[in-house]
Amino acid sequence: MKKILVTVLILFLVFVAYVVVNTFTFSSKQIQPDPVEKIAVPETAVGNFSRSLTYPTVSHEDPADFDPEVFYAFREFLKETYPLSDSLLELTYINEFSMIYKWQGSDPSLKPVILMGHIDVVPVPEEDLDKWSAPPFSGKIMDGKIWGRGAIDDKISVIGNLEAVEMLLGENYSPRRTVYLCFGHDEEIGGYQGAVAIVQHLKDQNVSAEFVLDEGFAITRGMVPGMERDMALIGTAEKGFLTLEMSITLEGGHSSMPARETAVDVMARAVVKLKDNPFPSELSQPVQDFMAYAGPEMSTFVSRMAFANPGIFRSLIINNLQQEPSGNALVRTTTSPTIFRAGIKDNIIPTQARATVNFRTLPGTSIADVRDYVTRTIDDERILIKEGPFNSEAPGSSSVRSFGYETIHVSIKEIFPHVAVAPNLVLGATDSRHYYPLTDDIYRFVPFYLDKDNIKTFHGIDEHIAVEDFKDAVRFYRQLILNASVGNE
Ligand SMILES: [Zn+2]
Repeated sequence: MKKILVTVLILFLVFVAYVVVNTFTFSSKQIQPDPVEKIAVPETAVGNFSRSLTYPTVSHEDPADFDPEVFYAFREFLKETYPLSDSLLELTYINEFSMIYKWQGSDPSLKPVILMGHIDVVPVPEEDLDKWSAPPFSGKIMDGKIWGRGAIDDKISVIGNLEAVEMLLGENYSPRRTVYLCFGHDEEIGGYQGAVAIVQHLKDQNVSAEFVLDEGFAITRGMVPGMERDMALIGTAEKGFLTLEMSITLEGGHSSMPARETAVDVMARAVVKLKDNPFPSELSQPVQDFMAYAGPEMSTFVSRMAFANPGIFRSLIINNLQQEPSGNALVRTTTSPTIFRAGIKDNIIPTQARATVNFRTLPGTSIADVRDYVTRTIDDERILIKEGPFNSEAPGSSSVRSFGYETIHVSIKEIFPHVAVAPNLVLGATDSRHYYPLTDDIYRFVPFYLDKDNIKTFHGIDEHIAVEDFKDAVRFYRQLILNASVGNE
């Protein structure tokens, strides 16, 4: 008996030692370049950004509401505001309003880099207009901030990149690597006229890119549990998108004599079954990469220990994450019933019931997997299941050891020396998902601070950015172009 106890004790001590050694040898993956000189960003840049927000380049769900005049005006605005980019770069309009600026590099052996953004914004609902601190299309500069729809989603990428390019052109800089700026005009409604056509155009020209940078993540402040430092997250993957439309037709009749089972009952049960049987949780590749990069930077020993030993603390990590909806979405394919329809009158049993369910898939889970899972879970052949119009598979994870990832990592550190950098999985869909025909290395990051307050302004009320943060964004894009394009100043 004593022997067994001693053996157990020894095994336990070995286990503890293993966990502790892993934690202490869990070394930082942060690159620490020398800080660069903080260049002056002219006030005209701030004015230009403010003016860009005065154009209501709104993408509407209903194509009939599209206003081409505004988009033409925005095109003209860019042309006049960035004269060097307009004359020294090759500019191609795609489907009238999307843009490709090509800045030819001197070394054709280097694959080009693509910097993305989108010029369209989501609408501002009429009833929200008076809740804004400044009118949403005023571009007003107030309290050291620039206010307006598009300030962080996503005219900051468009104007930030153009200001950076214009500045470099003014310095007579020319890149060795070709740089493309690609701006879509319908990202908010799927990118089918913009990004898809841009990619087709580039593909026709046999463009194969070194890497792509699009929106997706930012510098998070107080958003990563257990992390006190600001942490810049670079999206190395995004979730896939699938909508399933379910319908059932059964006999209806008068509500005074209901059948044992009606269309409404069956559909309601199906939806409940889907909610009661969520997809299994897992730590997908981008989340594992996040733990490897963020772990050593964590503020508490417990977090560092958990992330240093993901095999042992897997269920603890997952349990912790799934407490919050955003964490839950990181570890599983999510199920969201979004439309539920049946019936027209209180005393008629409807013959038809419909439900629409939106799924966001983890990398590694295919649309076919979801269909299969749904069919098995509902287990009712009377329900017809049809795929919605705009679905996309979750792309695989881009490398964290590529030239692209490291260049973005270094550029962030040069402009924002105090932040930690880590990869992660983007929960929403971005235009960059259309760019995989051009490269495997697609990253998602916009240089602004994201906290618990301004995250609500995304597609919401009072979207704004601090003037200084906008200037840092210009500095970042300038630095990124210099680093990526290996210049010959
Ligand atoms: Zn956006």
